[in-house]
Amino acid sequence: MNFENNLAFARSMDLQDPIGHLRDEFLFPTQKNVPFIYLCGNSLGLQPKAARKVLDEQLSNWENLAVEGWFEGDNPWMFYHKALKKLMAPLVGASAAEVCPMNTLTVNLHLLMVSFYKPSATRFKIIMEAGAFPSDQYAIESQVRFHGYDPKDAIIEVAPREGEYTLRTEDIIESISDNGAEIALVLFGGVNYFTGQWFDMQAITEAGHKAGAVVGFDLAHAAGNVPLQLHDWKVDFACWCSYKYQNSGPGGISGIFVHEKHFKDTTLNRFAGWWGYQEEQRFKMEKGFVPEAGADGWQVSCTQVMPMALYFASLQIFEMAGFMEPLRNKSKKLTAYLFFIVNEVNKTLGFEQYTMITPITEQDRGAQVSIIAKQGGKEVFNQLVAKNVLGDWREPNVIRLSPVPLYNSFEDIFLTGEYLLAISKSILTPIY
Ligand SMILES: *Cc1c(COP(=O)(O)O)cnc(C)c1O
Repeated sequence: MNFENNLAFARSMDLQDPIGHLRDEFLFPTQKNVPFIYLCGNSLGLQPKAARKVLDEQLSNWENLAVEGWFEGDNPWMFYHKALKKLMAPLVGASAAEVCPMNTLTVNLHLLMVSFYKPSATRFKIIMEAGAFPSDQYAIESQVRFHGYDPKDAIIEVAPREGEYTLRTEDIIESISDNGAEIALVLFGGVNYFTGQWFDMQAITEAGHKAGAVVGFDLAHAAGNVPLQLHDWKVDFACWCSYKYQNSGPGGISGIFVHEKHFKDTTLNRFAGWWGYQEEQRFKMEKGFVPEAGADGWQVSCTQVMPMALYFASLQIFEMAGFMEPLRNKSKKLTAYLFFIVNEVNKTLGFEQYTMITPITEQDRGAQVSIIAKQGGKEVFNQLVAKNVLGDWREPNVIRLSPVPLYNSFEDIFLTGEYLLAISKSILTPIY
């Protein structure tokens, strides 16, 4: 694609965008009455306009039906999650039975590790990416300790090579096969939160299985961002939060995936609760846990109707978009345009002030560009915010900008480049 660094080009791209109208489904934060160019959907997605309506509906149900809302009304709470499952499935490439909304992400990571991390005396290690999101590191360390192992012995981290920022697939595969006989679980992120690297999930899954290990993914930065085929890739389990690319609001509900091949496995441990009990028999309130078939059998507590209503409002926008394919088509171009525009800024400045550490190749990234600012990173970031461009800042020197295909435009990216250039010129001294 031949990009151009001018407003007319950006606007013509927006005019050709088949899903550009979906921007109108969202509310943009403002500063002094001017809407932000919001490039932070990788951290917290924008509020769908429908969010208030769905919450109001549920408040009315609660008001008018009270306890009867579980079984009465247009959409009884008892079965409320089923409508979500149908819309979640195409986002991650699963059947509706393989997914379920429940809890929050780190909680689900623990619950799934209870089932799928089954260490034995010879095979007790977990292999993961170095620099994983801290919550995942803490969850994994504490699970390992819970089973009586020392994280130093039981966790293998695959790190980038000296002088590189991202992982090479060949190094991940080699590390899995080198340690094969000792690995109980391969547990990776889908997309790394810091670098924006999208791992080759299919290759990792195959390598893990070849080594005799179980393979799971944390899809916090992947679900709703990149197209996934969890069922076909034979991933054993996965979980994600829905408040990043899936716009379900702060603290929004998480989703889990359990591959159908595990549905009949009665040897899996679970931390059970009444909501995972066979749905038809649940209210017989009998002794002895019998799980519901499918991912639903991992539920613990009763349906969280309010967070689910918010997630549902956003999932309906994904449905309007036609799910991942149209989104990904736009996303590839939009993020490539951001790479181009930041390079244009470097060119005009005459030196590489901004190093983009996210892989530029589209199969290795989603909708995020992580940028190391050589000079004055925090100051540049603050001034971008003052200019109404909201990305996020990661210590020590990284600006993350995430163009989200549901609500960002090519014009957003062009303007971001204009501001970035103006700010850079005003505060930086050239390096020769
Ligand atoms: C955002 C994120 C989390 C957050 O977990 P919560 O339990 O929702 O607070 C965890 N892991 C990863 C990889 C994330 O990106």
